[in-house]
Amino acid sequence: MSDPHELTVLNPATEETVATVPAASAEDVDTAVVRALRAQARWAALAGADRARLLRRFADTVDAHLEELAQLEVREAGHTVGNARWEAGNARDLLLYAAGGAERLLGAQIPAPGGFNVTFHEPLGVVGVIAPWNFPMPIAAWGSFPALAAGNAVVLKPAETTPLTALRLAGLALEAGLPEHVFQVLPGHGHTAGRALVDHPDVAKIVFTGSTSTGREVMERCARLVKPVTLELGGKSPNVVFADADLEAALDPFSFLDNSGQDCCARTRVLVQESVFEEARAFLAEALAAVVVGDPADDKTQMGPLISRQQLDRVRSYVPEDAPALRGTAPEGPGFWFPPTVLTGERPDGRAAREEIFGPVAVLLPFADEADAVRLANDTPYGLSGSVWTRDLGRALRVSRAVGAGNLSVNSHSSVRYWTPFGGFKQSGLGRELGPDALTAFTETKNVFISTEGPAQ
Ligand code: NAD
Repeated sequence: MSDPHELTVLNPATEETVATVPAASAEDVDTAVVRALRAQARWAALAGADRARLLRRFADTVDAHLEELAQLEVREAGHTVGNARWEAGNARDLLLYAAGGAERLLGAQIPAPGGFNVTFHEPLGVVGVIAPWNFPMPIAAWGSFPALAAGNAVVLKPAETTPLTALRLAGLALEAGLPEHVFQVLPGHGHTAGRALVDHPDVAKIVFTGSTSTGREVMERCARLVKPVTLELGGKSPNVVFADADLEAALDPFSFLDNSGQDCCARTRVLVQESVFEEARAFLAEALAAVVVGDPADDKTQMGPLISRQQLDRVRSYVPEDAPALRGTAPEGPGFWFPPTVLTGERPDGRAAREEIFGPVAVLLPFADEADAVRLANDTPYGLSGSVWTRDLGRALRVSRAVGAGNLSVNSHSSVRYWTPFGGFKQSGLGRELGPDALTAFTETKNVFISTEGPAQ
């Protein structure tokens, strides 16, 4: 039995214990929120330029510890070291972007008969951020840093399996001179610390990233307090490949294997036009066989392990041993390894084609024409991401307009940048993070009418 008061962090590549950390109770969450409320009042009273200066110093401190953060991410999450360096850099860059936002959080002046209106973007107060394990550092940063820049305090609960980089970021914030209790990290269980944060009457907003089923519960609980919530949930994104596309680029297996497929934007439904379907299958078979799976700390490794035994069992349940599939290789244990896999005998309405697997597994499906491609791409309860590959610009634009998803890319698999809005359609979520409106999502707009008529005589 695991200890409910403690979290054991395992290295997913070796199953060795990296650290144990105390798990926050509901009382700990309450204490943190009370401290955050006090700290927030002072933080919000600073000029935006002063908050920006401190956030830039925080970015410099993260930069000075980039390699340490990356190595910690490798050990606690099994990410390849190249990816982990990118993730730490993403947290640093978002701090700089958010700092710029703090300096430009301006209201409007709106004339009216007999006076004028001024608007203010008031910070919400204390923001609760609940993060998953798949990208511990970037997702902690996306929920927290714009909120801080807008003058809020943040209480962040990382996932049970990956609390270490978030804890280190909170330490670096203090080293950089951010006031105490403005950015607190509380590792803990979802059903205790997570729920306590969601239910706390003094937490003004929840940013939740995780599974659709937990997100639904979080939204229901927030509804009881009419508490705003941003939900970044699951995905089952299409990769629509027309016959005229650059097939090698379109079928890059890292569009669904990156981070061992534990990526909410993974293009796990590979939809290929019938006339090039066999060519695509042959290309993918070779590409999967060439993927280097192994020690994530080695610079040459392209794919590491899954996060946990539970996740490994889940992924296995979608891939029976006799399933028609293209398969790469993976190490034996210890560690939570699964080979790169493309299921080739799946129907569009099959379980593996519809449900988010969250492992290095895609399904390969043929389509006849543009209308068929759009129908298949939209045949999912999710709507997070996707790619469209064709040399026909008109078709690229028609298809990307017709696919119901928040983040699409044309002739590219890249669609997530801290300076562009990110979020999902349908059951992939609610609201947007990042981009030019990242800070205003953590404010209430207040309108004040000022009469120029003078006091009534
Ligand atoms: P999860 O829903 O199990 O857990 C996410 C977080 O919620 C964890 O910190 C967990 O402790 C907490 N939690 C669990 N139950 C809770 C409750 N009742 N109340 C409050 N908090 C609770 O998800 P996971 O398995 O950690 O992450 C994988 C999922 O995250 C996938 O579905 C993936 O698609 C999704 N994800 C989405 C995005 C996005 O931006 N759309 C990004 C990354 C991951």
